Formats: sequence, C-alpha cells, structure tokens
Amino acid sequence: MSLIEIQNFIGGEFRPAHSRKVLENTDPSTGLVYSTLPRSDAADIDVAVESARKAFPVWSKTSPEERSRFLHAIADGIDRQQATLAAAESRDQGKPLWLTESLDIPRASTNFRLFANQILFTPVESNEFSNKAINLVLRKPIGVAGLISPWNLPLYLLSWKIAPAIAAGNTVVCKPSEITPFTASLLCSIIKEAGLPPGVVNMVYGLGAEAGEALVKHPQVPLISFTGGTATGQRLNAVAAPLLKKVSLELGGKNANLIFADADFEEAVKTTLRSSFLNQGEICLCGSRIFVEKSIYPRFLARFIEETKKLKVGDPTLKDHFLGALASAAHLQKVKSYVELAEQDGGRIETGKEEIKLDPKHQGGYFMRPTIITGLPPQSRVMQEEIFGPVVTVTPFESEEEALALANDVPYGLSASLWTQDIKRVHRIGQDLQVGTLWVNSWMIRDLRAPFGGMKKSGIGREGGLHSLEFFTEATNLCIKY
Ligand code: NDP
Repeated sequence: MSLIEIQNFIGGEFRPAHSRKVLENTDPSTGLVYSTLPRSDAADIDVAVESARKAFPVWSKTSPEERSRFLHAIADGIDRQQATLAAAESRDQGKPLWLTESLDIPRASTNFRLFANQILFTPVESNEFSNKAINLVLRKPIGVAGLISPWNLPLYLLSWKIAPAIAAGNTVVCKPSEITPFTASLLCSIIKEAGLPPGVVNMVYGLGAEAGEALVKHPQVPLISFTGGTATGQRLNAVAAPLLKKVSLELGGKNANLIFADADFEEAVKTTLRSSFLNQGEICLCGSRIFVEKSIYPRFLARFIEETKKLKVGDPTLKDHFLGALASAAHLQKVKSYVELAEQDGGRIETGKEEIKLDPKHQGGYFMRPTIITGLPPQSRVMQEEIFGPVVTVTPFESEEEALALANDVPYGLSASLWTQDIKRVHRIGQDLQVGTLWVNSWMIRDLRAPFGGMKKSGIGREGGLHSLEFFTEATNLCIKY
C-alpha cells in the first residue's frame, strides 16, 4: 500500500521540505507506518516566516467582520469534513473514533467559531482622567506568531491557537507534533478551500529540535504560543528570553482529585473513571493522583477497581472500546516504566497487568490497560512526575488540611477536581489550592471564554476568550487631552 505523503503548507501551496527529507508516521493501533511528513529545518521555517510576513500588512488591516467570515468559513469546512477528520485523528493518534467524533473535531470547529464571534464583540478599554483627558486602549495585531502544538489533542489544540491568532489579525507559522501531523494537513486543505489569503496560515512539519527551535529563534517571529511538556517549555523559554519574545506556555500537569466523604459517591466514581482514563490518560487535565477521605477509601477503591476492570481496550474504531492505543512506542515504554518504578518503590498494582486480547491487525499496536496503583509515598517519582498515560495512584487522607497539602505538594499546578457537598470547603480549598482550574463536583467542563492555564511548572499565561486575544495583540494607550 502506498504511503500518504503529507506536505508543508506555505504561502497557500503544498510543498515538500527543501531538503526533500521525510519522517515516517505510524498508526499507533497497528504499529505500521502509513504516511510520511517533511523533515523541515531552518530553511523551510525561513520561507514560511517570509510568506507570513508578506501576508501580514493586508491581513492585519482587514476588518473584524471580514476576518470573522473567514473563520466561520473554516469552521464550516471542518463541520463538512467531520467524518474524514475524525477518522484521520483516530488513526494518527490512536485514540477511539467515538472520542474524535464527539470531542476533538467538534471542538476544533467551535474554536474557530468562538473567536469569529468574539472579535465582533470585544469591548474597548477606556478611562476618563479627571475631566482632563480620555485614555483609549488600541489593541493591535503583532506580526508573525509561531504556534507549537503537542500530539495528544492534535487538531483541537492547534485550532485553539490558530483561531485567536488570526482572528486578532496576526499571521502564523505552525509546527505541529511530528507524531500527529495528519489532521493539521487536512486543515490546510480546508483553509485553502475557505479562501484564506495565502500566507496567513503556514504549516511546517519536522522535529522539535530542528523545525520547532528554528521557529522559536527566528528574529521575525515576535511571539510564540506553545503547548507541550514542561522540559520543552523550559528549553523554549530559555531560547526566547534573550530575544525578548512574548511567550505563552501551556505545560504539563500532575492533577489531584480530592474526594471527600460527603461527595455524591456514584458521581465521583463515574467522573473519576473518565478523568483518569479518557484519551488513554493523555490529556494534560487528567487527574492522576486520587486522594480519598479515609472513611470512604475502602469502598471507593473497591468500586473504582471494579469499574476500571470493565473498561475495554483495543481497536480504536470500535464503539465499546474506552481506550485506544497510546500515541507512540516510545511513549508506551515510558508509561510502563513508571509502573515498574511503582513496584520497585513498594506500590501495589491493583489492576492493569491483565492481558489485552487483540485481533491480529492490532497485535503490534501500543496498547496498555488502565492501571491503578496504591501504597506509594507521596514523594515517590510516580506521584511527583507527569506520566501522561492511563496510570493513577489512589491514596487515603484524614483531614482537609492533609488533602490540601498533598494536592499542593508537586511542582505542577494545572488543575484539580474537588468532590464535596460543603460549600464552605469549596471556598477554602478554592483559595488555597495552587491550580489554574479547579473543577467542583465535575471534570473538564470547558467554557472556552474562561482563563485556562497553569501555575508553577504548568506554565506561564492564560488562554481562552479575551485572554487569548490579549496575548495575540499589543496595547497602545491613546491619551487624548480634552
Ligand atoms: P513536547 O514538549 O515533547 O512537544 C510539544 C511540541 O514542541 C511538539 O510539536 C514538539 O515537536 C515541539 N518541540 C520539541 N522540542 C522543541 C524545541 N526544542 N523547540 C521548539 N519546539 C520543540 O510535548 P508532547 O508533544 O510530548 O505533548 C505532551 C505534553 O504536552 C505533556 O507534558 C502535556 O501535559 C502537555 N500538554 C499541556 C497542555 C496544557 O494546556 N497545559 C495540553 C496538552 C498537552 P516534536 O513532536 O516534533 O518533538
């Protein structure tokens, strides 16, 4: 079978890397290579940035109404291609098809619509000063934005950056993860069909250390929006800092679920299953450390293990499979190494080691059963480091103070879920928990206007609604004397 050849998209045209080098792209559910993508380097980034730079003067001066129409046209294209995009994302990433149909692809379309609408109704900041003058804040597009995205929610997170960047009047050069390039390339066809002026969106594929870093270093790219791992974010920040670039970093997490005895038990079990294992646990918001009040700990653990054992793993196209394959062989190996480490540190593997029955087509896929670990000390590496797979720890706590201390005792601060009926406790914990988002009796309800981002090693800055538009613009305060 011939391989799909993914190409860069620069100045409205599809083209290979100038070196003609390619990388191979694997279907994680079979372990077989099914496409190639350009292995681009600094020379390709230069051409893409130049194309974006040329498009900027005209695009930045188009009216918000016109930009809004283009964004809606892209969203319409995504909606029309929903089935193709959903199948492509599932094949490329390994995640279940039902999930790409219900979450990834609809959300990509919503990202474009949100910012298409938002730019039409963005309030203008103004202050009158002591009957003497009025301050009027002009928000202006900045130029060429570099957008770097990860492999876990490929189109969903890429569109979350492209939409606000171009809505605000910037042009962009994107570098998607080399592990999941497929839907980004389909999006380029949709963008072309929507008639977006050439050069407004450019897509360059390649390795992070080559194409990604060249984009971050490029002198004509004044802002970088990055979603990915903390170590990469630190590297990128170090490269960008001397160049004084505007940088937004959405990084890793080690999120806690705090389940108190007064919680709605059934709802807590049901939602914790999802927050632990949805998308094979490969969502930065997954709750990987579950803390349960001692009085309900044995009951919770028994039910949680029972329900986890029922989750089916395998062929991502089958509706009853809750988990598909992990994104790559290297990632599967990394996640499994944490399970081994847990055993060495005295942890107990409550479930996860059972054999997975796979049909012949999927024998070479990167599958793993959802895994629950108990009995680990909070300072163990498994409870401190991001694993980013279907592996959770469950730990009892005795008091609210202890629960809070355990939850905060990690280098990360992205999100958490709190399960309780006590509103005063919600306020207390909301004040003291070091996270960007705290879900109360819920998980991953995402209002796209809300500020999204993390504290500590989970990142710098916030995305979402006006927060994204603020990042992708610069302010000029016009002070006009009466
Ligand atoms: P990585 O940090 O490995 O990669 C992210 C992107 O950065 C990829 O496109 C990668 O390219 C690129 N990259 C790698 N090295 C460099 C470099 N030196 N300069 C510029 N770009 C570079 O993350 P993963 O793809 O492994 O994604 C998983 C991580 O993303 C997890 O830690 C997860 O928590 C985090 N994440 C955070 C979210 C948030 O909103 N806070 C949301 C989703 C994920 P390549 O793939 O080619 O190496």
